[in-house]
Amino acid sequence: MSDRLPGFSTLAVHAGAQPDPTTGARATPIYQTTSFVFNDADHAASLFGLQAFGNIYTRIGNPTNAVLEERVAALEGGTAALAVASGHAAQVVVLQQLLQPGDEFIAARKLYGGSINQFTHAFKSFGWNVVWADPDDIASFERAVTPRTKAIFIESIANPGGSITDIEAISTVAAKAGVPLIVDNTLASPYLIRPIDHGADIVVHSLTKFLGGHGNSLGGIIVDAGTFDWSTGGKYPMLSEPRPEYHGIRLQETFGNFAFAIACRVLGLRDLGPALSPFNAFMILTGIETLPLRMQKHCDNAKAVAEFLAGHPAVASVSYAGLASDKYNRLARKYAPKGAGAVFTFSLKGGYDAGVNLVSKLQLFSHLANVGDTRSLVIHPASTTHSQLDDAAKVKSGAGPDVVRLSIGIEDKEDLIADLEQALGA
Ligand SMILES: *Cc1c(COP(=O)(O)O)cnc(C)c1O
Repeated sequence: MSDRLPGFSTLAVHAGAQPDPTTGARATPIYQTTSFVFNDADHAASLFGLQAFGNIYTRIGNPTNAVLEERVAALEGGTAALAVASGHAAQVVVLQQLLQPGDEFIAARKLYGGSINQFTHAFKSFGWNVVWADPDDIASFERAVTPRTKAIFIESIANPGGSITDIEAISTVAAKAGVPLIVDNTLASPYLIRPIDHGADIVVHSLTKFLGGHGNSLGGIIVDAGTFDWSTGGKYPMLSEPRPEYHGIRLQETFGNFAFAIACRVLGLRDLGPALSPFNAFMILTGIETLPLRMQKHCDNAKAVAEFLAGHPAVASVSYAGLASDKYNRLARKYAPKGAGAVFTFSLKGGYDAGVNLVSKLQLFSHLANVGDTRSLVIHPASTTHSQLDDAAKVKSGAGPDVVRLSIGIEDKEDLIADLEQALGA
C-alpha cells in the first residue's frame, strides 16, 4: 500500500466500505434487520452504557447506514456523521442538541422553502426562535447575535436562486459569538464545496438531492467537523452536563471531537426516532459512487443552459452564479471553482402567467418539487414551494412571481436547450 491519501473520487467509491466479512459480498449489503444479538449480558450492558461501540437496534444505528455515515464524513472532511430519514430530520436533530426552549438561532433568509417553514412554524412551537439575517449583508448576522443565540444556519449554495454564501465571513461572526456554524451543503455537495474547510462546525444534507442523486430515496445526514468546544460557559448542556441515562457521563468529555455526532445519535435519534431505512442507505451509497461524475456534468449542463437563457428575448434575467456577469460570480470562483451547481432561477418578461405557461409546455423537463435528480426538473416557486410566503418574503427569498427554478440533469445539453427553446417560443 502506498501512503498516498485517497482522492475525492476514490473516497466516493470506497470510504467506509469493505468486503462483507462473512460472505465476501463486495457491494455493501442491506442489513434489513431491526435488531442485533448481543454476545452476552456484559456486552449488552456495555453497549447500552456507551462503554462499547456496536449495534443494538436500527433506530440508533445500522451497519449499512454506518458505511454511508463514514463515507459522507470522509467526503466532507468531518470526524463522524449520523444518517437520518430526511434533510428536515437532520435539521431537527441538530438543533435539538443545541437549543433549549426560549433560545434563538440565526438563519440566512435565503433558504429552501421547506426550511423557512420548518424554522418559522414547527420550531417556534418547540420554543426555538429563528432570527433572520441577510446572507448578502454579513453585518446583519452580527447585529442579530444576542446572549440567547445558540447557532447560525446557512446554505452554501442557496435554494432557489443558486446564490453563493460567504461561508468564511459568516464563520468569523459565529466564532466571535461563540456559537457553531451549521451549513446546509445540499445544493453544492462536497464535490463542489467542503464547508468545513471554510470554518463550518456542522454540515447537514438532504441526501435526497445530489448525494443520492437519482430521485428515488429520501435521506438526511449530519456531519460533525469536530472543531467546536461544547464545554465553554455551560451554553450546551446536552453535550457538557452529565447524562443520567448513561451513568452520568458527559458526552464532550467522553467522546471529544466527535461528541456532537454521538449526541445526535444517542440523544436525538434515540428519542425523536427519524431513523433512515437501510434500503435507502444502500440506494444513496450507490448514488454517491458516481457523485463526482454526475456533479461535473450537472454543472457543465447548467452553465450551457444558463448561457442560452441569458441570450433569449423572452427572458428578463438569469440568476446563475456560474455566469461571469452574475453578482455571485466572485464568490462562486472562490468557493466552487469546479462549477456553481445545477439549481438556479430565471425570470420571464411575461411574469407569473409566462412562468405557468412555460412549465406546462416543457416536455423533457419534469414539473415537480425536487432538485438534484439525474433528470432535469422545473418548478414555479411562487405557486408551489414558496407559496406559503407573502409577496415581500417571496421576493426576498428569491422566489418572486416571475421566477422559474430549474434543476439541470445529466441529459445531453442540446436536448435540454431544444426543449426550453420550443417552450419559450411557443
Ligand atoms: C430538500 C432540501 C431540504 C430538506 O430535505 P428533505 O430530504 O426533503 O427533508 C433541506 N435543505 C435543502 C437545501 C433542500 O434542498
